[in-house]
Amino acid sequence: MTGTNHGAGDRLVRATADEGQIRCMAAVTTETAAEAARRHKTSETVAAALGRTLTGALLLGAGQKEFDRLTVQIECSGPLGGITAETNARGQVRGYARNPEAHAPLNPDGKFDVSAVVGGGMFYVTYESGYEVGLYREPYRGSVPIVSGEIGEDFAYYLAKSEQIPSAVLLGVLLRARESGETFIEAAGGVMIQVMPGADPRVVAAIESSVSATPHTTALIRGGARPADLLRAALGDVPFEVLEERPVAFACTCSYERAVSLISSIETSELESMLREDKGAALTCHFCNETYRVDEPGLAGIVERSRNGA
Ligand code: ZN
Repeated sequence: MTGTNHGAGDRLVRATADEGQIRCMAAVTTETAAEAARRHKTSETVAAALGRTLTGALLLGAGQKEFDRLTVQIECSGPLGGITAETNARGQVRGYARNPEAHAPLNPDGKFDVSAVVGGGMFYVTYESGYEVGLYREPYRGSVPIVSGEIGEDFAYYLAKSEQIPSAVLLGVLLRARESGETFIEAAGGVMIQVMPGADPRVVAAIESSVSATPHTTALIRGGARPADLLRAALGDVPFEVLEERPVAFACTCSYERAVSLISSIETSELESMLREDKGAALTCHFCNETYRVDEPGLAGIVERSRNGA
């Protein structure tokens, strides 16, 4: 079995405004967020937190020219424990929450209280490049304390403090209840606007006021908005030029072959005891929660090769 790939309807646009001094990204990630929630069997609040983080990672990656892998890591003291999201330059993203079932009461506005499950802690971003072509470079790693726990503001704080890029980041996941009482993700997406040092202050002021007046991203997506429509809403009268539009999706790089190769790297004596006691082996991918099972004859073959030093 090969890696999974879902979310064919999700898309991201990259655009510029003010002659390149404003970088803008927007994405609709409804299927990506829903796939993550389904795979990890998350609570509703964690579905929102994870969906926002995956969307933020995709948007952050779209604003970068050179990287193979971008990892956003939230290490937090709230019941959620932590979130890891990893994306590549091809718009694929995968991720997980440490405690997917974490829960918090609704906030006073009747919304899922993401900041309550996140709590305090640290927000890390790591860019890696070159490893796919054997020219691995020293990764770039930045970190900031968690300032809000609502995730969007934490991305903005990270960009401002660690990359010195003043930014507006809007991330949303809208959950709705079916008549059966079961909830589902009806809309997810986000907008990221980055201000370069040469930006016209009047344009920046215009964007600040339009961003603060823009309707909720998820309300727009629910109404059928595409990524460029989200940018139009966020930028108001400021003209922008779309440079690229591409699909994005929840996708994992794990596979049965990789699971077998990982199991094969275990010490022979341990493999022998697994064969004796468990009559097989199972490995679950953290990122996508897929479980790969090696049956008894399969494990016996691995043990045999391990004894022969293969
Ligand atoms: Zn996986």
